[in-house]
Amino acid sequence: MQKINLLTYYQELCSVLNQQGFRHKMRFQGKIKEDEYDIIDEDHPELTIMEIAENSNAYRYLTENGLLKKDICLFCGNTLVNGKYTFTEPVNRTKLNICSECHTKGRNMQGNNGTDIRSGCLSIIALFISFCFIVIIATTLFL
Ligand SMILES: [Zn+2]
Repeated sequence: MQKINLLTYYQELCSVLNQQGFRHKMRFQGKIKEDEYDIIDEDHPELTIMEIAENSNAYRYLTENGLLKKDICLFCGNTLVNGKYTFTEPVNRTKLNICSECHTKGRNMQGNNGTDIRSGCLSIIALFISFCFIVIIATTLFL
């Protein structure tokens, strides 16, 4: 499997967007600030493409000019074997192509942060409710 260097690729995309006058907006101390595109975190190239996708005009510019690669995972740079998996960016609900590994990784993370804790809480609540019922039944029977 071929893997492209996402950092170099996103750096190119950022400079094209900056040259075309696109700026990303961010909230800073209650004010909207506009800034040039740049790599956000070298260890997390996916943050940069997510920021680009938040600006629908910038994202459309890249897709319409064929600058956005469609055959790679936009999170890790792997060549896509099948393009069935997508990540929906939360601001514009832009669908980003990702590989099955990144999709599985994301789903597992969601499971660990949400479902497990919630189902744990629910079973404790259920236990507590049944305990209360036993106490109520016991007191009404014996008093
Ligand atoms: Zn991937």
